[in-house]
Amino acid sequence: MERITTVAAMRAFGRVSRAAGRRIGLVPTMGALHRGHLSLIERARSECDAVVVSIYVNPLQFGPKEDFRAYPRDLERDQGLLRSSGTDALFVPEHEEIHVPGHRTRVEVQGMQDVLCGRSRPGHFRGVATVVAKLFAIVRPDIACFGEKDAQQLRIIRRMALDLHDETQIISCPTVREEDGLALSSRNTYLTPEERRAAPVLYRALRSAAASGRAGETDAARLVSLARDTIAREPLARLDYVEAVDGETLEPVATAGAGTLLAVAAWFGRARLIDNISF
Ligand code: AMP
Repeated sequence: MERITTVAAMRAFGRVSRAAGRRIGLVPTMGALHRGHLSLIERARSECDAVVVSIYVNPLQFGPKEDFRAYPRDLERDQGLLRSSGTDALFVPEHEEIHVPGHRTRVEVQGMQDVLCGRSRPGHFRGVATVVAKLFAIVRPDIACFGEKDAQQLRIIRRMALDLHDETQIISCPTVREEDGLALSSRNTYLTPEERRAAPVLYRALRSAAASGRAGETDAARLVSLARDTIAREPLARLDYVEAVDGETLEPVATAGAGTLLAVAAWFGRARLIDNISF
């Protein structure tokens, strides 16, 4: 596995790969890797000849009161995992490589960036879209893999690639979970043992609402309040939102059905966790 730290070297890797007729797959991450990330890498591996994983904790996507400094970082451990995952290149750029001194450009996916998590994390998705656009320009991947766990991020990146005529094919990968249903997340390490025991309530709430949906309940507001009631019974959960939206545009829906996305965010102590389920 090559460890690449500069934009120039990353571009050179891409050039050589393309010249050799190799398909390039990109998996953007913030490190603190877990089985969720590894599933994305496996997917990229299955479709590509050259797999690039980026690890970059992007300050642009953290609010001033968020956990940028505390975000878990363990590059040694991550490199070990990547070596045995079939990754060809690890891109770990310094901040100034990605956001060059004097940078002024931001990528906004209007509307979609302001709903759901965008309401309590203003500027977050602008930061995400900006850094992903830069990674696409540097690596020029054929495909890029993103997790369904971050459903809003995935939709926003899809929209961005479409709008910017970026040819990168956006691949969505299913959420990898613990046995009790909790979606794997780097932020799960913030949970105390009590909070960890409480956290699976999110997926339980989503699953029971989805089951009602499948059993014929189409009133989105009723499904949302069902999920909300389940979460309200867990004293360690502080709900941010539960919403039923269109699975592509993220616009609210009144009637739930095929293509509806039920999304949730809640605080457990200092960990803000998200999850979702598709109908
Ligand atoms: P992050 O390092 O949290 O920025 O995530 C990097 C990529 O991994 C994103 O595309 C996430 O959606 C994806 N990801 C994170 N957690 C999971 C999970 N539990 N299952 C599948 N993909 C995930």
